[in-house]
Amino acid sequence: MEKLSNINTVKDILQRHGFTFSKSLGQNFLINPSVCPKMAEECGVDSDSGVIEVGPGIGVLTNELAKRAKKVVAVELDKRLLPVLDETLGEYDNVKVINEDVMKLDLNKLIEEEFKGMKVCVCANLPYYITSPIVMRLLEEKLSVTSITVMVQKEAAQRICAEVGTRQCGAVTAAVWYYSRPELLFHVSSGSFMPAPKVDSAVIRLNIRKEPAVSVKDEKLFFKTVRAAFSQRRKNIANSLSTGLSMNKQDIISLLEDCSIPSLKRAEELSMEELGKISDRLSDLFKN
Ligand code: SAM
Repeated sequence: MEKLSNINTVKDILQRHGFTFSKSLGQNFLINPSVCPKMAEECGVDSDSGVIEVGPGIGVLTNELAKRAKKVVAVELDKRLLPVLDETLGEYDNVKVINEDVMKLDLNKLIEEEFKGMKVCVCANLPYYITSPIVMRLLEEKLSVTSITVMVQKEAAQRICAEVGTRQCGAVTAAVWYYSRPELLFHVSSGSFMPAPKVDSAVIRLNIRKEPAVSVKDEKLFFKTVRAAFSQRRKNIANSLSTGLSMNKQDIISLLEDCSIPSLKRAEELSMEELGKISDRLSDLFKN
């Protein structure tokens, strides 16, 4: 469909279908014609590969993905958008729309069933109310995808792409770096959406690593340690780990000494290796 992201086309489609935006579903639709082609190019999809899109909305990005991919599977929670997508994606026979909540869908099964033998990536303009949970779910599921290219709020993009061991780093940063090499691709102004959100956005690409950034004995414990370390950002790690893991502070101080990590450091000053060391030492401790 021509110029689907043109504001008048969007308005016309929404009006004809009697569609009203749902704030609670994070519905801010793209009306800037230059953004979707750029995202579709940057996500690395090609005529031999498949792509999963989360939240197609009225299908602006889906159109650009369908032009380039062998197959697109778009997961949309709002069933009111299904007749709209029928209309806007009608010309493509390589697109499948699934009316589901992406947080509840078995994505590994979906990849196995829909993309047999294909290289797969994820590309989406994410609903902002669940950006981090979606990103974490996509990563933690260890999907066989090469990259995850997503539009998120600018601040979230900066936090996710910050280097571990710097001030902007948080628990999500460490988790993202564990699984991938994040890259901030480009910024998108709030005026590029209808309705316009209060903040600007950015497109990031998480290039999935073949092996995690650090090798740890117990992955679940590693993430528990990361969450505990960053749970009280203003406090030193001895305090935040002791509270977050419900452990005696003196035991934490000795454990940090064993790892040669000063207990007065703050979580944001720790490297991935140091976080891994702490979690491995905890794993030894819990085994004995
Ligand atoms: N891709 C469209 C665009 O760029 O114009 C729409 C993006 S809009 C920011 C987010 C979309 O995600 C909406 O269509 C919304 O209905 C959908 N959505 C929200 N929560 C969802 C969920 N849990 N699972 C799947 N889709 C969801």
